[in-house]
Amino acid sequence: MLPIRNTDGGYAVGIDLGGTTVTASAVSHDGNILSRIEYPSLAKEGMETTCRQISEAADKAVKDAGLRKRDVIACGMGTPGVFDAPTGDMFFVPNFKDWDGKNLYRALAEHSPYKYYIGNDVNAAAFGEYFYGAGKESRAMVMFTMGTGIGSGVIIDGKPLRGVFASPEMGHIVISENGPRCVCGARDCLEAFCGRDAITARCLEKLAAGRDSAVSELDKERLTPKDIDIYAERGDELCLEVLRETGYYMGLGVANAINIFNPDLIVIGGGVGQSETLFEALKKTAFETAIPSLAEKCSVIQSPLDNMAGVLGAAGLAYRGEYA
Ligand SMILES: [Zn+2]
Repeated sequence: MLPIRNTDGGYAVGIDLGGTTVTASAVSHDGNILSRIEYPSLAKEGMETTCRQISEAADKAVKDAGLRKRDVIACGMGTPGVFDAPTGDMFFVPNFKDWDGKNLYRALAEHSPYKYYIGNDVNAAAFGEYFYGAGKESRAMVMFTMGTGIGSGVIIDGKPLRGVFASPEMGHIVISENGPRCVCGARDCLEAFCGRDAITARCLEKLAAGRDSAVSELDKERLTPKDIDIYAERGDELCLEVLRETGYYMGLGVANAINIFNPDLIVIGGGVGQSETLFEALKKTAFETAIPSLAEKCSVIQSPLDNMAGVLGAAGLAYRGEYA
């Protein structure tokens, strides 16, 4: 990884772009978050609208930090989807209307005066941990984010691991057979067992089968993994079971990551990954399943930076003039 450029006292803006929210923060080179702005990303309204939201969030983050435009050296942005980060060519960006086939840097330049460095959103979060969090000493680090889907990023010797253009899609490794269909079109992917909807669907199935649980008092249409975790914390057997199962499946994915990448650190991020019940089952399965000599050298932890990892990593990319 390149060292931090000579910033002449300048600052970077870190941006985390999601399907519902764009988060922007002015960040000092040593990782202090000076402001935090959240705007709706308006992903269904097209690239022009979303780029305007990104630009306005960046401007407000700069203003709220007491900085001026000329204090900003660059913006970094963690971005979902499949794209070529150095060129900005977007290939497959589900949930964002009309992005496929367009160029993000060109669209951003219409609305924002800053230079942008984009990276895969999970790589950006992984770099947040690598630059400013638990990954500082790591030689080979894997990050998983558990949310709507299961994201992954791998950093080896300070560089994001990429194939021709894409990062490892560990959410779509196959961990079973005759299981649920995945959004990618295949069956039995890790994400098809551990994504947000898969977790709630397993809970609802158990309820429909006549199992007793206090969680049945909630609106079933709006049930989230967070709700399931709250009831599990209260000792609800069905909710504990759902999260232990999810941890088991996720642990298989983590064991695969240990065997493939021989990492010294695996960080589990994303809201769902913060469940203690899930995380304990995940660790148990991962260490029981992976090759023992590889597992022995690997720590598995929950993300210490949690939801700020993305903006911090994005700012770190801007400071280094790197894509991820
Ligand atoms: Zn899949």
